[in-house]
Amino acid sequence: MNTKRLTIAESAAAAEILRRGGLVALPTETVYGLGANGLDAAAVRRIFEAKGRPQDNPLILHIPDAGWLERYCLDVPELAYWLAAAFWPGPLTMILRRRPIVPDATTGGLTTVGVRCPRHEAALAVIAAADVPIAAPSANTSGRPSCTTAADVLEDMDGKVDAVLDGGPCAVGVESTILDLTVTPPRLLRPGGLPLEELQRVCGTVAVDEAVTRQMGEGEHPRAPGMKYRHYAPKAPVTVVTGEAERSAAYIRAQITPSGGVICFDEYAPLFAQYPVQRLGSAADKGEQARRVFDALRAFDATGVTEIWAQCPDNAGLGFAIGNRLKKAAGFHVIDADGEEGRV
Ligand code: AMP
Ligand code: MG
Repeated sequence: MNTKRLTIAESAAAAEILRRGGLVALPTETVYGLGANGLDAAAVRRIFEAKGRPQDNPLILHIPDAGWLERYCLDVPELAYWLAAAFWPGPLTMILRRRPIVPDATTGGLTTVGVRCPRHEAALAVIAAADVPIAAPSANTSGRPSCTTAADVLEDMDGKVDAVLDGGPCAVGVESTILDLTVTPPRLLRPGGLPLEELQRVCGTVAVDEAVTRQMGEGEHPRAPGMKYRHYAPKAPVTVVTGEAERSAAYIRAQITPSGGVICFDEYAPLFAQYPVQRLGSAADKGEQARRVFDALRAFDATGVTEIWAQCPDNAGLGFAIGNRLKKAAGFHVIDADGEEGRV
């Protein structure tokens, strides 16, 4: 199959492919998604094939606004509408009870479905033109870092999907925040582009699922099935170093071996001049760190490094999502430069 390159002006062509049961990689504000008609089980199965994604890992439905929630979800609580009013379009996925019209292929057989409205003109134009909800997981090969440019998508998906719509680099860079609204209090299943503090402002109490902060063991079943898989992982093993930035940099400087590579804040790059370095952005600029984190993880696969050391921001704001992606890439191999080993 030849993968077509489409521009953002070609949303009608993208929508036509989707309506015919094809696959189109789409830009969103978070990361690129691999889209299909979410109501067409055969089309959705093609997403799993292209990504090599485990069948039990459900997909998120992308809709144009909260007015579509009742079509696909049951017992939608008032809180869902409050959250949509506050944060949609935006990087928040809500987990709600699903209606039977949503196929098992999309939900991985769960009785719930994840829905979100992306903050991206081109993605919204495609959904409107297709007039169906678009099921779209991240457009990477399963297990690899997510894609934040059309070039990343082609690296993983060229020849496996019908088209890629090139919307340039993603504005947020990490995936959506996932909030389960079928439980009380609402539960954070994945930190993402919408900070936890913002959710707390609207919801009050938010529980944090344990799959967010530790590696799930064999036989454990986190509420977001995707959280149990090794993820985002470059080929070389990753060690994440938390703690105050100056201390984490010094710790890495002391531990790194000659064939190591480093992911660090811009200010500390001069410390690692003799190593392959991926800069995350300034220590104070979490927006830039979020946009850079997947690219930083991807870039080492083209080098011969045998170990990767990563500085990690604190958990405030976007830091929670950035740190989570780094820690998942490290299989939760985390060292705290300020104190105890293994604290996350
Ligand atoms: P991705 O689109 O690649 O970011 O992956 C979607 C994430 O959403 C995965 O971690 C899924 O496990 C999670 N997810 C999707 N639908 C549901 C659902 N109904 N319940 C819980 N988690 C879900
Ligand atoms: Mg993904």
